[in-house]
Amino acid sequence: VPRRSKKRRRILIDVDEVLADFQTPAFDIINRLFGKSLTAYDYEVWDLFELFTKEEGDAIRAEMGRPGVCASLKVRPGALDAVRELRDMADVHPVTSPFDSPTWVAERYAWLQEHFQIPRRDVVFTESKYLVKGDALLDDRPDNITTWLKEHRRAVGMLWHIPNTRTMTQYDHLRVKTWDEVISKVKKLAGV
Ligand SMILES: [Mg+2]
Repeated sequence: VPRRSKKRRRILIDVDEVLADFQTPAFDIINRLFGKSLTAYDYEVWDLFELFTKEEGDAIRAEMGRPGVCASLKVRPGALDAVRELRDMADVHPVTSPFDSPTWVAERYAWLQEHFQIPRRDVVFTESKYLVKGDALLDDRPDNITTWLKEHRRAVGMLWHIPNTRTMTQYDHLRVKTWDEVISKVKKLAGV
């Protein structure tokens, strides 16, 4: 099969808010702690912690970091099928910045194995995603994409659209809103 003679492309995929629904439990915690009813549409920043004081942020982090929270995150719609399709044509590596909690990393390894059958050796934990080499990066954090693209100029950066970055139009050229868009970009890269 001629396709196999070509080197397989390496696709790096962020986990929180791309594969896993982090925001729903985060907003549940925020709303419970502060008696509010906020959603992602009430924000226009990527980092929700920017809107809270240090003490409030610490309280949210303590709740999000509890054992079992990472393990119980829901898989985002369409992610299972999309990752399966991407893995048929490329090597897929979750690249994820671990939440500051002693149980997060172990739970995330298990979560990726359980839901996506992705083995530990394929997973990268780092806050410095620009250090990780690949042919494409899919991430919902704008500066993860722009910093990574500076290091990997010929690669493809895809900013996964989330409601709280909707007004950051300076990134619109990098934005992808559906898994179909991601798959078609990766198909082009993989030459299939
Ligand atoms: Mg993310």
